[in-house]
Amino acid sequence: MPIATVNPANGETLKTFDELSPEEIERRLAAADRAFRQHRTTTFAERTRLLDRAADLLDEDRDAIARTMTTEMGKPLAAARAEAAKCAKAMRWYAAHAEGLLADESPSEAEVRDSGASHARVHYRPLGVVLAVMPWNFPLWQVVRFAAPALMAGNVGLLKHASNVPQTALYLEDLFRRAGYPDGCFQTLLVGSGAVEAILRDPRVAAATLTGSEPAGRSVAAVAGDEVKKTVLELGGSDPYVVMPSADLERAVKTAVTARVQNNGQSCIAAKRFIVHTDVYDAFAERFTALMAALTVGDPMEDATDVGPLATEMGRADLEELVDDAVRQGATALCGGRRPAAPGELAHGWFYEPTVLAGVTPAMRIHREEAFGPVATLYRVNGVDEALEVANDTPFGLSSNVWTRDEAEQQRFERDMEAGGVFFNGMTASHPALPFGGVKRSGYGRELSGHGIREFCNVTTVWHG
Ligand code: NDP
Repeated sequence: MPIATVNPANGETLKTFDELSPEEIERRLAAADRAFRQHRTTTFAERTRLLDRAADLLDEDRDAIARTMTTEMGKPLAAARAEAAKCAKAMRWYAAHAEGLLADESPSEAEVRDSGASHARVHYRPLGVVLAVMPWNFPLWQVVRFAAPALMAGNVGLLKHASNVPQTALYLEDLFRRAGYPDGCFQTLLVGSGAVEAILRDPRVAAATLTGSEPAGRSVAAVAGDEVKKTVLELGGSDPYVVMPSADLERAVKTAVTARVQNNGQSCIAAKRFIVHTDVYDAFAERFTALMAALTVGDPMEDATDVGPLATEMGRADLEELVDDAVRQGATALCGGRRPAAPGELAHGWFYEPTVLAGVTPAMRIHREEAFGPVATLYRVNGVDEALEVANDTPFGLSSNVWTRDEAEQQRFERDMEAGGVFFNGMTASHPALPFGGVKRSGYGRELSGHGIREFCNVTTVWHG
């Protein structure tokens, strides 16, 4: 993929960028290495000052960077503004809490004595230069979610962002520089995916984090495994959204629409498979389809737009193939299932109508693959056992949503859902204080919270005889 800003709303190439040369990559690796040696010795107070300053600048820049994101990947402008605000909030959260999250830990006095020590404790030290391979869907948030805890822990970051969001990637480097971070603490590498292996193998790079597709994750993890370097992977998801008879149906339906089409349907934690108890299935399907069909698809810069274009032409083609395969094998499109008739220059944009598919069977690709766009699948089930069976019948295990007011049912879903999260009577959303990540093919490791910041730490045992 060329490194370029291409407006997904009309297909126009606005700006292209040259890949960094090997010499330029080498210069940045050396700068990162130098920066780590200094940054690792800074106090939490100093790191907090820098990250709070970055948050303030991001707030000031909110409108401009939101426009850049919308131009590069097509999310509705209001959502882009909200993403920028969320990033500033997460920065402040880590600025305020990192010291406490990384405070030394001690076993009990009896345990210390039992280990033969006069005193002993666990101390969190930074790992070093962390390479972040990031996707375009939340082009600020995915990066900040990594960068804020990494920098607070004393690590430094190298960002290889997706090739279709280069201006957002360069903005991030500039943001941290303007906030006062020394040279090399956070650098953007404008390189294609082919350059990642050599960078990751470089001895000056300690670890990697990747958010994106399974093939990308597998490839980075394989190289990191070969080099015995730590990785965190946050890959795709096909989150279930279970609706049981005790649910507040109107809230469940409205939230279902948001959960499916947020970010034009391109979110790893979007609810994708709607698993509905037969007692409320017909009512849910009718109302859900009506609301999905009523969404406004169009120019993401317009306030009235609910769903903008897909970020890439290939993304839309992949989604179309998934839907066409399902329909060919007998699924019914209750709404959508095609490109909208967009007027004017939007006719060249990568739009797709919000779609609801019923009658999905395990033989269809969409049953086991991630639908990265505004396409929902509906399943009718007869009870908790069947709901869990369908919910867990996926290679993914990122998060999950369950609508039920029945406590016994809640306990079953909490115990048996194969996912990194179970959200009751609401939709999955990330929050700095809550761990985020998955199991199965959705990846491993956690971002956010204390779990996230400790992923890239050297958990050091300090023992005194
Ligand atoms: P990719 O996984 O290809 O891209 C994510 C990042 O990984 C980009 O920076 C990309 O660089 C890089 N990358 C891709 N392949 C490799 C590789 N072999 N080695 C190192 N880095 C690599 O996502 P796509 O944009 O192609 O989307 C494809 C599908 O992935 C989507 O349909 C969706 O299912 C899933 N996805 C999931 C996301 C999530 O949030 N979990 C986010 C985005 C996609 P470059 O852009 O230069 O190729």
